[in-house]
Amino acid sequence: MRDYAPDNNLLKDRIIMVTGAGDGIGKAAALSFARHGASVILLGRTTAKLEKVYDTIEAEGGPTPAILSFNLLSPTPENYQAVYETIAQEFGRLDGLLHNAGDLGNLTPIEQYDAETWYRVMQINVNAAFMLTQCCLPLLKKSADASVVFTSSGVGRKGRAYWGAYAVSKFANEGMMQVLADELEGSTDIRVNSLNPGATHTNMRSKAYPGEDPDTLPEPEDLMPAYLYLLGPDSQGTTGQQLDARDFIKAQ
Ligand code: NDP
Repeated sequence: MRDYAPDNNLLKDRIIMVTGAGDGIGKAAALSFARHGASVILLGRTTAKLEKVYDTIEAEGGPTPAILSFNLLSPTPENYQAVYETIAQEFGRLDGLLHNAGDLGNLTPIEQYDAETWYRVMQINVNAAFMLTQCCLPLLKKSADASVVFTSSGVGRKGRAYWGAYAVSKFANEGMMQVLADELEGSTDIRVNSLNPGATHTNMRSKAYPGEDPDTLPEPEDLMPAYLYLLGPDSQGTTGQQLDARDFIKAQ
């Protein structure tokens, strides 16, 4: 996939929601999707960050985005219903859902892992992704070519000491991806896959590896071919798969 070259209009007229769209990989994905023609729904908890992404898209002449200020930590079923109703009224359907928001928790042995942090990570990384997927499915079913992407991690495919709730939550995302892909295959046109970004220069990575030189890491923008591939028509027919963004980065 290193030769993958997305068409400039790859996502023209598509409506794509990105969670955690205000920073890091989610911000890069939202900007990249808009640059390829998508109307992007920017979901996140820090409205000021979402507004900056919104303003950048507007300044670049991209399709007008939408902001959904939403803290994935403590929403009620009514909050999810409001997400559904807002998208239904504004756009009528959803062509893409990128579950990107994530919480790292603490790097601690299971024996000492703080229970409150565990519950928080599982709520943001797993329960919220389930609830959002469920409330968006009727909108995804209205699309002719819908794609759902769960963001995974290396530690969500092979467990590693001290990664605690984060690793377990990423395994859960992989499981949710497989169950949903299997349920939807054959009866709908919705494809469901997981993507491991790999080590990337973001706040989360710096928190996990404070001593690392960030200049040795790919930038979020470098990963975008993989994200564009999965959210656009070139991945039609690919479902239930675990992909790695690194496989799309061109050799230097
Ligand atoms: P960042 O910490 O830079 O960004 C995470 C995003 O999630 C932020 O926009 C943040 O919002 C949002 N978020 C966190 N908690 C909530 C919440 N309660 N409600 C709503 N939004 C929330 O991380 P990355 O960009 O690095 O990570 C993106 C995804 O990639 C994550 O799923 C991560 O697990 C995964 N990943 C990252 C890797 C890396 O090396 N960077 C490697 C492997 C996987 P706010 O800006 O307001 O804090």
